[in-house]
Amino acid sequence: MLDILIIGGGPIGLACGLEAQRAGLSFFIVEKGCLVNSLYNYPSTMTFFSTSEKLEIGGIPFVTINNKPVRAEALEYYRRVAVSRNLPINLFEEITGIVKTEDGYHITSTKATYEAKNVIISTGFYDISVNLNIPGEHLPKVKHYYQDPHYYAMQKVVVVGSSNSAIDVALETYRKGADVTLVVRGDEISSRVKYWVRPDIINRIKEGSIKAYFNANLKEVREYEVDIETPEGTVTIPNDFVMAMTGYKPNFIFLEKMGIELSEDKFIPKYNPDTMESNMPGMYLAGVVVGGLDTHLWFIENSRVHADMIIGDIVKKRLNAENKTHL
Ligand code: FAD
Repeated sequence: MLDILIIGGGPIGLACGLEAQRAGLSFFIVEKGCLVNSLYNYPSTMTFFSTSEKLEIGGIPFVTINNKPVRAEALEYYRRVAVSRNLPINLFEEITGIVKTEDGYHITSTKATYEAKNVIISTGFYDISVNLNIPGEHLPKVKHYYQDPHYYAMQKVVVVGSSNSAIDVALETYRKGADVTLVVRGDEISSRVKYWVRPDIINRIKEGSIKAYFNANLKEVREYEVDIETPEGTVTIPNDFVMAMTGYKPNFIFLEKMGIELSEDKFIPKYNPDTMESNMPGMYLAGVVVGGLDTHLWFIENSRVHADMIIGDIVKKRLNAENKTHL
């Protein structure tokens, strides 16, 4: 029986693996996609807002000569960490079920079964998009994930949202020759947009290079046009692609299936903030999955400490149990 099964091979799952390794615990990481699957699926041009030392795990230096690392460097870093430390990871294997047993958990995946005393759920939030729920959203031209701007050159692109991802898409596709219209629910560009990017988008809107509708919602998507609800009424414009950058959410169905209780309003999982243990004994939560619908609260920067907290608690419990048997 393993001491720990870690679900998710993202940065925080790897951080948990490194801490478990340091503590001499037996463990396995199971990842349903490739190594650091979410990062792999980020835009190819993506630059982190964090400086590289804030993305480090296990105290292993993340060396870059740039102020902020780019996606390719992060992929290189986390892969080198996983390989050099011989972390035991099964890739392209999805965990599908967990059942509580007398002394731990019986875990089922698409390829195997595992017995583990403890489980760490570090499954992130990047797999499920927050949908617009409007007519036409099912059309293939509506995208919730964005890889590269070249594809959209000379196309009429509507970008929905005003978060970092939406603004990056708007600026990048505009600079590769797309005709960009931004649809923003609020009355300004989000104050959370990276401080060095916000003036850029505001000035592009001011000069008219990028069109923007504020206090507006995308109402319907059709093959060659879209309807936008604005304070002045419904506007219909010609359109080739819709980039619905409206955010992502953790897999709440999976969490509930594991027995984890979620808060009613923001679906925040129940956990002890000192140990990260959930309402299920020996089942821990790590990384950005703990934020529920508040996906802007947790990052690699501030959630990598979950690894120390969880492994510290598991080690403490083990010592307590050993002391009891020696009494
Ligand atoms: P993830 O990296 O999402 O890892 C979870 C993993 O679990 C995934 O690989 C997934 O495939 C796997 N998984 C899910 N379900 C299962 C299952 N049932 N079985 C097996 N595996 C499963 N944070 C920062 O600190 N600094 C930044 O600059 C920064 N920039 C960001 C930019 C973007 C565009 C985005 C979207 C996020 C950014 N973040 C940043 C936030 C942070 O990088 C990510 O959310 C990060 O990936 C969180 O790590 P994680 O390990 O918690 O989750």
